[in-house]
Amino acid sequence: MSSVTTGARAFITGISGQDGSYLGERLVAEGVEVHALAHDLEPLPSAPGVELHRGDLTSVEDVRSLLLDLAPDEVYNLAALSSVARSWDEPDLTARVNGLAAAALLESALLVQEKQGKPVRFVQASSAEIFGQPERSPQDETTPVRPLNPYGAAKAYAHLMVDVYRHRDLHAVSAILYNHESPRRPEQFVTRKITATVAAIAAGRATHLSLGNLDARRDWGWAPDYVDAMVRAARADVARDYVVATGVGHSVREFVAAAFRHAGIDDWEPLVVIDPAFVRPTDPTELIGDATRARELLGWSPTVDFADVVGRMVDADLSAVG
Ligand code: GDP
Repeated sequence: MSSVTTGARAFITGISGQDGSYLGERLVAEGVEVHALAHDLEPLPSAPGVELHRGDLTSVEDVRSLLLDLAPDEVYNLAALSSVARSWDEPDLTARVNGLAAAALLESALLVQEKQGKPVRFVQASSAEIFGQPERSPQDETTPVRPLNPYGAAKAYAHLMVDVYRHRDLHAVSAILYNHESPRRPEQFVTRKITATVAAIAAGRATHLSLGNLDARRDWGWAPDYVDAMVRAARADVARDYVVATGVGHSVREFVAAAFRHAGIDDWEPLVVIDPAFVRPTDPTELIGDATRARELLGWSPTVDFADVVGRMVDADLSAVG
């Protein structure tokens, strides 16, 4: 793996999200000049050391002129409507942000490369949701792309476009990210919803936890590890797609049990209520990734296991409720 060169410049979309914030911090600490896109309609995110540029990711013109102006060495496309559940309410916006915007960015990155004669490395934050209900588990880079929700379909389009541009000699990679969590995860995701509510129950501020499908199994990793995989993929000698996952699956029920126990509550079952409103029209029963390629070619491996992910998130929420 080649390391970062002095004077490198990176461009990040999605800086206000969980992964964008970790990535921005990581690159700034490495001495990379970091630029990021901040949406016109949102308050400026706090991103120390990052130069923020106002713009709309879905505007091809905005994206192209900004990229030509900045001429970055590395582009990380992390911006997305990130909720699978919400993608059913806004399928068209999901298509534009999660799908079409990636195409515009790829085209702009190629333009920078061709006009300025310097190589651009492009990383797309792809998703396990592109596999839909896969026939086998774990999945790897050869698993058929067959999404089953608007989020997955839009991510699948972006994923395929990365391959299209790789054939045009852009160092473009898709990091097929499995669920990755941290205290920065918003509460619309089940992990953070669980840890925030468990902390509130422990502090006497909530009485119960309402959830949907407790049997769904996910491969939950630690977000900063996944950011590390994306940086390694950007700087690898050869552009490939990589599954980024721990390879270990747990059910939502297991996450709930681990979170309550970590907060010192053993008799948790009476505190959990099943609410059909949180059950999705289609929901993959098991998404577990095989990251052998990332391990072998990028030297990447997860550093935080399931119990520790749960423990760190519960601890952060317990200290937040005081
Ligand atoms: P996703 O895998 O990217 O959709 O991440 P989520 O954290 O939103 O959902 C993970 C799994 O938890 C899915 O199978 C959901 O159906 C399941 N789940 C069960 N109850 C809930 C809930 O109350 N909220 C959310 N977000 N997911 C839930």
